[in-house]
Amino acid sequence: MTAPAPRPDVTGLELPELEAALDAQGQPRFRARQIFQWIYKRGVDEFAAMTDLPQALRDRLATDFRISTPRLAARERSADGTEKFLLELADGRRIESVFIPDTPAMTFCISTQVGCAMGCAFCLTAKMGLVRHLTAAEIAGQVRVLAGSLGLRHEAFNIVLMGMGEPLHNYDQTMKALRILADPHGFALPPRRVTLSTVGLVPAIERLATEPLMPNLAVSLHAATESLRTELVPSGRKYSVREIIEACRRLPLQKRRRITFEYVLLAGVNDSPDEAARLARLLSGLRAKVNLIPLNAAPGIPFERPSDAAIDRFAGVLAERRITVSVRKSRGRDIRAACGQLIVEGGRRSPTQRAAALM
Ligand code: SAH
Repeated sequence: MTAPAPRPDVTGLELPELEAALDAQGQPRFRARQIFQWIYKRGVDEFAAMTDLPQALRDRLATDFRISTPRLAARERSADGTEKFLLELADGRRIESVFIPDTPAMTFCISTQVGCAMGCAFCLTAKMGLVRHLTAAEIAGQVRVLAGSLGLRHEAFNIVLMGMGEPLHNYDQTMKALRILADPHGFALPPRRVTLSTVGLVPAIERLATEPLMPNLAVSLHAATESLRTELVPSGRKYSVREIIEACRRLPLQKRRRITFEYVLLAGVNDSPDEAARLARLLSGLRAKVNLIPLNAAPGIPFERPSDAAIDRFAGVLAERRITVSVRKSRGRDIRAACGQLIVEGGRRSPTQRAAALM
């Protein structure tokens, strides 16, 4: 006997897909728009509550489809207003999403994978390894849960794909989630409010250029020299700094848009004025800005945060060379919600992964 096919999850469908599914059942296509409005604008996650749909249709939808929503397992609030959401997925896996208020907009930091395969030397998520990719429903679902829990469903907010995982390693589901979130009958989130942060997977960066909903791009560079970068970002071995920068130069940028280069500052490793000068040379002529992220230290991370003086010196060298530079204020460190601090304990992991996580 074969198991019955699972009912399709409406939250993983783009509007045209839902329209086609309803059409196939002989339903008018505008029902899809109504369903989108219920789910995204009113936060309803049961067909029974969609009171402007005929009762018979509500019953039919409930047998043919499902609406899945990540379960809020825990919520923690930092002294600075940052909030960390621990969400449980249908298979029991857990991920974290972070709400960062007023930066200057409301920002949701969203995960794209459970764990991550990129292995950055200073990142806690890397210690989990890649457990699995998230589906588009799970990526967009984080936004639904955060917007709903925070009462921001009708406010403008920004999304940064800077939570757990490498978004370009999970390209199709990530882009699908952005299309779902951009739909005018749902959150209507414009691509200029989305920033995708990547370790620099060159073919995927090139593919981004072909997307109708191209988000802002942030590239995690962390070093201007090849050998240092390979040490810090092992997955970077595949694409050299030079190739990444070239791909960025080719990226068509809309007016006033710039590429952000993220640079985690590690004391005595990549924070010298010489490295700053090399970085400035590398980026010259690019519409770029550099976002310095002083390391968020954690047990098991074999690096230290530079002194404020070293951070200022590094930023100063860039500014002197006319590179726009900012220093990321660390938010939510007291609840371990800051960059690189997202790691989920428990869940089913291999003994080696568990050991690595505790190191
Ligand atoms: N995989 C993507 C997005 C996730 S991380 C990427 O690499 O860009 C978002 C940012 O946090 C990246 O720039 C990452 O390098 C940085 N980060 C990771 N660990 C950190 C730490 N311990 N302290 C400060 N920033 C960290």
